[in-house]
Amino acid sequence: MSAEETLAQLAGKISVCTNCALNETRKKSVPGDGPADAEIMFIGEGPGFHENEQGHPFVGAAGKFLDQLLAQAGVTREEVFIGNVVKCRPPGNRDPLPEELAACDEYLEAQIQTINPSIIVTLGRFSMNKFIPGAKISTIHGQMRKVGERFIIPMFHPAAALHQAALKPSILADFANLPDQLNEARAALGRKAVAKKKESIASKNEKPKQLSLF
Ligand code: URA
Repeated sequence: MSAEETLAQLAGKISVCTNCALNETRKKSVPGDGPADAEIMFIGEGPGFHENEQGHPFVGAAGKFLDQLLAQAGVTREEVFIGNVVKCRPPGNRDPLPEELAACDEYLEAQIQTINPSIIVTLGRFSMNKFIPGAKISTIHGQMRKVGERFIIPMFHPAAALHQAALKPSILADFANLPDQLNEARAALGRKAVAKKKESIASKNEKPKQLSLF
């Protein structure tokens, strides 16, 4: 089975999952979107109102801000995988419960194994805690560290930065560092840039060449 097929099969399983009580209130599950060979995987918390309606991650206000942040890093949604630690909406957007996180972890693990990204960017504390338990996001945000076979970069959740203006410069700066960190991760893992259908992250960041008159 190809990686694309594995992701699609997982999405199918998630859509009928009854491993935790969140299935009772979900409208649509949100398995995550992105290519199976993404070099960067963003992992947020869980679907909110709009995500539950549409079945896609980060499509509300936090998602609009995430789009701006991705642009800051020179990447588009089409190049990265975006998912969450829980795939169904916690009612009223409450925090996911430990048993919900535990019940959903098999899907996230399977997505990570399938995509095998060089970098996982955790958005918010629930996602950070999975990889760096007990860490303080205010101290380590933006810092890349190797955890197992890949690199983890904890970042503030875009919704937190939307609501607390003081966090905005930090999250913007952290996303701006991402292209350099990706190059560093590629070098450390001995990987080459994944060939993109459109222009690659690296080529987008190159200064436009001056056109010669002759
Ligand atoms: N917040 C999240 O953490 N994930 C989403 O998909 C949307 C908002």
